[in-house]
Amino acid sequence: MKASERILKLKPSPTMAVTAKAGQLKAQGFDVIGFGSGEPDFDTPQHIKDAAIRAIEEGKTKYTPAGGLPELKRAISDKFRRDNNLNYELSQITVNCGAKHSIYNIIQSLINDGDEVIIPAPYWVSYPAMVELAGGIPVIINADMDTDFKITPQMIKENITRRTKAIIFNSPSNPTGAGYTRKEMEAIGEILEGTDITIISDDIYESIVYDGFEFVNFANISETLKRQTLTVNGVSKAYAMTGWRIGYVAGDEAFIKKLETFQSQSTSNPTSISQWASIEALTGDQTVVGKMVEAFDRRRKLIISGLNDIPGMTCYNPVGTFYAFPDITEIYKFSGWKKICDKYDDEFNSSILATYLLEEARSAVVPGIGFGNDKYFRMSFATSDENIIEGLKRIKEAVEKLV
Ligand SMILES: *Cc1c(COP(=O)(O)O)cnc(C)c1O
Repeated sequence: MKASERILKLKPSPTMAVTAKAGQLKAQGFDVIGFGSGEPDFDTPQHIKDAAIRAIEEGKTKYTPAGGLPELKRAISDKFRRDNNLNYELSQITVNCGAKHSIYNIIQSLINDGDEVIIPAPYWVSYPAMVELAGGIPVIINADMDTDFKITPQMIKENITRRTKAIIFNSPSNPTGAGYTRKEMEAIGEILEGTDITIISDDIYESIVYDGFEFVNFANISETLKRQTLTVNGVSKAYAMTGWRIGYVAGDEAFIKKLETFQSQSTSNPTSISQWASIEALTGDQTVVGKMVEAFDRRRKLIISGLNDIPGMTCYNPVGTFYAFPDITEIYKFSGWKKICDKYDDEFNSSILATYLLEEARSAVVPGIGFGNDKYFRMSFATSDENIIEGLKRIKEAVEKLV
């Protein structure tokens, strides 16, 4: 059977590849510590589960409107007002099967063949793939640790052409953990304001922030920018609900209607039970979020100081998310490096190191090349303190063998 050209060009997600390889080793009886997966290790809070059980028992198990329940849209609208000081009418909100699906729907409904989409790198793995799948061209702007992984207004200006249709913004960022301040957003906003460029704002890590970082969306900066912005968010990361698959978009009413048409001809509504659970997540006890963030913050300090203590590694201190993204280029200069390059024979250095750490340190990390930069790898610290301590110890020993 011959697959379409469209799908033949599509690469599998590299985060999934590492998870699969780690799974194989585990199946062989090795105790592998997983730093690959991008999800909270906490269980979904009980009151949210209870709401789902109630929905099942009350027979709320049928189709809902394709774009989501009005009750959920109301809860989302209230959330925007409460947490973000943003007013969105119910007609400006639509619900999808996870924030990833929200972004997919947006790109399919926005991009024509040859349209350019600006993507700051290191980027979340799926952005360029989704743009290419829609016939668009990802225009990657690279930022490194020396600028805190942030791009400047000037860099955006230099990359805008007649074909620029959108820019994807993710602050705090997966994989770097960097976040833009209000001032930085205002400066970038000046370049984008009043243009035909749509801002796709992926706010999924909005509530997972540290050291008093203030989360800001372009929609907060001006009314014009708000009209240009599609705000994407979801319940996966904040409420430990990755498996429930609920995300949402807010923005221009006419475009939201198009998104609902697209969804009505593809998946139809997101799971009714998950929608009822999400209403409880957004309107119920919000202290559960703070408790998880407190634990992430403790682990952040543990992992960042541990990584900085490993020869050849320098790690940026993330302002949000649950990812550490160390610079590993000094390791590529170690005397033992060539030997493992010969052994693992891979095009990319970060993949070589990840494979080495998986076999030698039985620790699964994600190579930076999947995020568009071979100088780093990503470790999720959404895992127990014990795992972090043990994993760092093993990684340190493995790297010291290369010095
Ligand atoms: C996890 C993640 C998402 C998607 O989350 P869903 O589970 O699909 O809601 C979107 N963007 C980024 C950057 C993520 O890390």
